[in-house]
Amino acid sequence: MTAFDPQMTGPILSVSGITKRYGARIGCADVSFDLWPGEVMGIVGESGSGKSTLLGCLSGQLEPDAGQVVWRGANGPVDTVTMAEADRRLLGRTEWAFVHQNPRDGLRMGVSAGGNVGERLMATGARDYGRIRDTAEDWLQRVEIDARRIDDRPSQFSGGMQQRLQIARNLVSGPKLAFMDEPTGGLDVSVQARLLDLLRGLVRDMGLSAVLVTHDLAVVRLLADRLMVMKDGRVVESGLTDQVLDDPQHGYTQLLVSSVLQV
Ligand code: ADP
Ligand code: MG
Repeated sequence: MTAFDPQMTGPILSVSGITKRYGARIGCADVSFDLWPGEVMGIVGESGSGKSTLLGCLSGQLEPDAGQVVWRGANGPVDTVTMAEADRRLLGRTEWAFVHQNPRDGLRMGVSAGGNVGERLMATGARDYGRIRDTAEDWLQRVEIDARRIDDRPSQFSGGMQQRLQIARNLVSGPKLAFMDEPTGGLDVSVQARLLDLLRGLVRDMGLSAVLVTHDLAVVRLLADRLMVMKDGRVVESGLTDQVLDDPQHGYTQLLVSSVLQV
């Protein structure tokens, strides 16, 4: 270990002052936080509170009007807001993962399950076909998909399986940070529970850091170490997940927790 190993000496992601407007409307305003290696940050709030806008700004899919997102990865600290587009895209295929609510947004629907997983491996430099296929089979099993279905297309899978395939495709390259936008959102409750267990195991085993957007407090309770509560684009409360949920300080959080607000 060198004295300058950034992952050992500080946050893996430092967000400061992220602001995004859509014309006169505020998407998110002045959001700042640090994310430490292996930590999961939950973002909750009603529909329209700015969760997806913030996640888009953090993951390089949206350009913020102001603020910095400093990523401390394999190549040292870099502000991902101002870095070259090509570098940001490479980051998105290697050190970062993005799990969309709708698996169709994160999968190539016309490509086999194995192809979906293998493609990501090739983006990180893998070339040996046999090894790529073996690794793809391993990852299908890891997300509880029968490896014999490696040549099937995602369209032949159930919604829950598609979501697990999207997760395998994203995690096979060994990312350090995953962005997740309502990863269990569109699924039946029984399917959600199993997926949550699976995600929790993977996050722990891989030491993955994650920023997790959800409107479901049960999901953050299970997955998130810390929590930010958003309202009208701003963070109104943040802290350790259990602390915020068990003893909410802000009136809005109290409403969220008491289920008075339908989020
Ligand atoms: P959430 O993900 O919490 O539901 P969003 O980030 O989608 O919230 O939206 C935050 C605010 O920004 C809302 O007022 C929404 O109407 C607005 N907004 C989001 N996307 C756009 C867009 N593409 N154009 C205009 N306004 C948008
Ligand atoms: Mg959203």
